[in-house]
Amino acid sequence: MVYNKAYISNDPETHDNETALDAMAGDGGYQVEKYLGNYLRAKMKRDGKRFWAGDNISEYIENDHVREQLIDEATEAFELVLDRLLIDRENDPNSKGTARRLAKMYYNEIMAGRYEPGPDATAFPNDSQDRYEGMLVVRSELRSMCSHHHQPVSGVAYIGIIAANKLIGLSKYTRIAQWCARRGTLQEELANDITREISKATGSTNVGVYIQATHGCCENRGIMAHSSLTQTTVLTGAFKNDPSVKKEFMDNIKLQQEFAPR
Ligand SMILES: [Zn+2]
Repeated sequence: MVYNKAYISNDPETHDNETALDAMAGDGGYQVEKYLGNYLRAKMKRDGKRFWAGDNISEYIENDHVREQLIDEATEAFELVLDRLLIDRENDPNSKGTARRLAKMYYNEIMAGRYEPGPDATAFPNDSQDRYEGMLVVRSELRSMCSHHHQPVSGVAYIGIIAANKLIGLSKYTRIAQWCARRGTLQEELANDITREISKATGSTNVGVYIQATHGCCENRGIMAHSSLTQTTVLTGAFKNDPSVKKEFMDNIKLQQEFAPR
């Protein structure tokens, strides 16, 4: 389905979403929406689907053509932003392809966790007689972006779980954490998101996530503090309720930090 060729442009704020969706769903007799992005936003509103900067909306990005189309539309919008910033993108050789570079970077890199489905975390049974019942602590490098100013956030998450009836491959912890991070986030939200997704993938209700990160928002603007570090901790189940489990988690983090300081 081609979304963008002949639709009449409309203002998404004043637009009747149902009419647009009905028209789109029809046989193409008439077309009312110029931008696929506006169509998808109307669809998400109709479905009651939240699409905040930290939300995954991969079920609306059906295939690579949709993504390419959205990148084209974002390119057009970034061109306008550069124009409004009074940057000569026609003659400045460094700014010529910038709008497209930005659009691709958002969709394919720094916000890829919004548009891609979660990593496939195949689970292996952990229910035999010699099942592992101990704690597992995985250190994951994170790159994220604050949703307020779109400044880089970079740090490390320590993910702790007490194994339940399934185990996932060790690299999957990091893949899941990075999938949560590659969106517009707040560190507090990110810690919650990682906890929830790890719990979902492992079936464990005993999960702890500790994140330590530096924020471009503090370093590059505002207070310009170059050595500021933010820590967030989310503890569930035994991590929250059993002081010895919490201590073991924190001790493990310290051991990991000695090994790979951050
Ligand atoms: Zn910020």
